[in-house]
Parts: sequence; structure tokens; C-alpha cells
Amino acid sequence: MKLTELFRGEKPRLSFEVFPPKTDTTFESVRAATEEIAALKPSFVSVTYGAGGGTSKYTLSIAENIMKTHGVPTLAHLTCVSSTKETVRERIADIRAAGIENVMALRGDLPPETAGSAPARDYRHAIELVRELKETCPDLCIGGACYPEVHPESADSVQDIRFLKEKVDAGCDFLTTQMFFDNQLLYRFLYRIREAGITVPVIPGIMPITNAKQVDRALKLSGSFMPTRFKSLVDRFGNDPETMKQAGIIYATDQIIDLYANGIRNVHVYTMNKPDVAAKIMENLSAIIG
Ligand code: FAD
Repeated sequence: MKLTELFRGEKPRLSFEVFPPKTDTTFESVRAATEEIAALKPSFVSVTYGAGGGTSKYTLSIAENIMKTHGVPTLAHLTCVSSTKETVRERIADIRAAGIENVMALRGDLPPETAGSAPARDYRHAIELVRELKETCPDLCIGGACYPEVHPESADSVQDIRFLKEKVDAGCDFLTTQMFFDNQLLYRFLYRIREAGITVPVIPGIMPITNAKQVDRALKLSGSFMPTRFKSLVDRFGNDPETMKQAGIIYATDQIIDLYANGIRNVHVYTMNKPDVAAKIMENLSAIIG
């Protein structure tokens, strides 16, 4: 099923993200976790893709398994920054062969050890991958990434939104946001992109922070602003894993309820292969998402 069909519905919906294993030895445990997450019947499951390509073969097998075993629509991520044209063409053929209908077209980030040196540079920005997908597979539903707090490499929000508009015009059917911890940032972003003429559905991405160690990594990765309310929570509960987990899930649930209350219908949760966290959030929202 194409995600654009889902996004047309009026009902509040919740989707989840999982990531593939890094090695063969962890494949079975990761697959079991992703199956537990899919068994919760989210509206769809997205499966990330390693920019270095190392975990790429697992992205499709996990996405295909979720779709075929659980009947849950999947969104397979694909990055291009460290790939050749030939590799990308092969990956697209694999996506078609697996029967995947939804692809998240991403640039990805070069691993630090190769930044500045010269790995494959057939692609510079996600827009090139979006164009290629649109040209070669016009029937695919294509997603793109967006950044309510501006991509860390962008000079400012004006430039960021200008390039985002070009990417959407090249063929994105929807956008998913980077994580954020203050919903006001999302509402301001939505206002600005709508003013700029970007009209495709925007799916907010929410990251439940369930342990203190995650905080630095998440903030570094996303460049997200940490609201005082969230900082107090981590300061107060960060040393106690059980209470931090509970508080983090409640904080994420609270963000999602506020998004639904403000008219957002589809929310994506970065569940990080944690079925218990995904299940708890679903339970917290059971009456709302039905
Ligand atoms: P782009 O759209 O190319 O943007 C990157 C930067 O380039 C921005 O600053 C943009 O303004 C600028 N830019 C765009 N076009 C131009 C242009 N023509 N000229 C000059 N500058 C330009 N990473 C993974 O490795 N695997 C994943 O599965 C993955 N999933 C993600 C899912 C979501 C929802 C998000 C938000 C991010 C994800 N990432 C993933 C991380 C992502 O790869 C990085 O954030 C990366 O730095 C940017 O990717 P992009 O597709 O947004 O790039």
C-alpha cells in the first residue's frame, strides 16, 4: 500500500521506525524485535539504511518480512551519498523485486573517517536520488527528510526551505521530520513551509528518550533544542533507568497527543527496535488511535 493513501485518512495514526542489524550475528534478534513491533499493527513501519551501505542488504529483508508476514505497509530507506550510480540502480531493482512501494530517498552522511576524502561521489544531495527514482519508477511513493530546526549544514532556514522546496518539486510525495522535543518548533516550521508552497503531507518524527545515554547522542545527531522541561526530566530521572524510561515514554506520548490535538493525523515514532517502548506508547494512545 502506498503511504499517500494512508495519509489521506482522517483518523489519527501512529507509525514506527526500526533499524537493520549491523552484523549477521545480530540479524535474528533484530528481526524478532522488528516483528514484535510490526505485530502491534502500526499504520506503517520504516526501515533505515546505513549510509555506508554496510547494513543495506538487511533493510529490504526486514521490510519485506514485515510487509509479508504482518501485512503492515513498509517504507524502505535508501541513501545515496557514498554510493555509485550503479549501486543505487541495483538497490532500486532490489526494492522493486521485493514488492516495496514506498521509499525514503535520503542523502545520508559520510562516516567521519571518509569525510573530506573521496569515496563514491556520484550523488551530492538527496534531490538527485529523488529525481532518479521519479524518472525510473514513477509509481513508487517517495518520501524525503526535513528539519524543523534546520539541517546542521544549512546556512539558515531560508536556504534550508528553498532546497527543501526543490526536493519536493523533484518528486517527494511526503516528508518526515527529524526528531524535535518542542512542538512549537514544528508548528512554526509547518507555517513557514506552507507559506513557501510546500503542500505535501509532513509526518512529524518523535523520539522517545528512554535512557540518559541516548540524550547526548540524539541531540548531537539531530542538533535538536532541549526544552527546559525536558532537561529537568533528564536531570531528575536520568540516573534511574526505570524512572527515566517511564518519564521518557510519557514525554513522547504527551508530544504526540499535542500533535493530534493540533490537527496532525500521522505521527512517526523512532522506536529504535524497542518493542516494549512502542507497545507502551500505543497503549497510552489506545482510545485516540482506536
Ligand atoms: P539533503 O536533502 O541532500 O540535504 C542535506 C543538506 O544539503 C541540507 O543542508 C540541504 O539544505 C542541503 N542541500 C540540499 N540540496 C542542495 C543543493 N542543491 N545545493 C546545496 N545544498 C543543498 N541517514 C541514514 O544514513 N540512513 C537513514 O535511514 C536515515 N533516515 C533518516 C530519516 C529521517 C526522517 C531523517 C530526518 C534523517 C534520516 N537520516 C538517515 C539522516 C540523513 O541522511 C541526514 O540528516 C543527512 O545529513 C541529510 O540527508 P537529506 O536526505 O535530508 O539530505
